[in-house]
Amino acid sequence: MSKDVVDSQREQSHANHTMMQSSLDSDRARPAIPDQAENPRLVVEGLNIYYGATRVVHNVSISIKTRKVTAIIGPSGCGKSTFIRCLNRMHEVTPGARVEGKVLLDGENLYGPNVDPVQVRRRIGMVFQKPNPFPTMSIRDNVVAGFKLNGYRNQKDLDERAEKSLRMAALWEEVKDKIHRPGTDLSGGQQQRLCIARALAVDPEVLLMDEPCSALDPIATAKIEELIHELKETVTIVIVTHNMQQAARVSDDTAFFYLGELIEFGATATLFTTPEKRQTEDYITGRFG
Ligand code: ADP
Repeated sequence: MSKDVVDSQREQSHANHTMMQSSLDSDRARPAIPDQAENPRLVVEGLNIYYGATRVVHNVSISIKTRKVTAIIGPSGCGKSTFIRCLNRMHEVTPGARVEGKVLLDGENLYGPNVDPVQVRRRIGMVFQKPNPFPTMSIRDNVVAGFKLNGYRNQKDLDERAEKSLRMAALWEEVKDKIHRPGTDLSGGQQQRLCIARALAVDPEVLLMDEPCSALDPIATAKIEELIHELKETVTIVIVTHNMQQAARVSDDTAFFYLGELIEFGATATLFTTPEKRQTEDYITGRFG
């Protein structure tokens, strides 16, 4: 079985586990820290990331602003995907993988001794490259899967939660008449929005998107980009993309990674017009990558 298939099955199983365990308490109170845009939602301090003995991300520190979009760019293999997966402790599900350093969500270290990774993954949701709806479930059941598996049976509440999440994911109008059809009946772009709805259903504070458009056509991609603009009103977004134009279109801040190091980080408009570092300039002007 290929590494991709194994990875994607592992991700799927962890996504299910997270939703099962955490959905019932999704309405719990938010942390006491005020939800003010000037407070960074996530602060990464001195992050080193390993696969076995190999360090692939080196001493990264970065602040991710509340209700903004932060793009992670860089050539293939520079550690973008590995980095984003550390933000919700998904990295550690890979055997031999480990992390040094801190990731603070609203000031709380997610790698602290008493922190439950399942709760972390509820507060920080994730959408993957390939849309991965649960194949045996309807559109509606995909969205509310976690609630149902926890024994939550109030159909009216489940319907309301499904509609709200599908509206947030800009999919409701397209699916409202076939909500009980299988999720896999939808087009690729719709399936990706279904996965976004599923992630939103548990009210995450942060949404991580790892190349969410790489399997989609340009029209579906445009819809996801439009959706990202709408979602940042309520949720903080971190997006990995190999597409620099996409980063320029959707993000407020951009981080440029190269060979596992954070080379430059700042306002997207500045980074793409007047980068400080030579390597950034070479990359954004297409000299390598
Ligand atoms: P990017 O997302 O920028 O393409 P990745 O985060 O996927 O980069 O990879 C960063 C480095 O980590 C690469 O050298 C890659 O080969 C290595 N790597 C990725 N996944 C694994 C894994 N499961 N085991 C060992 N090394 C890995």
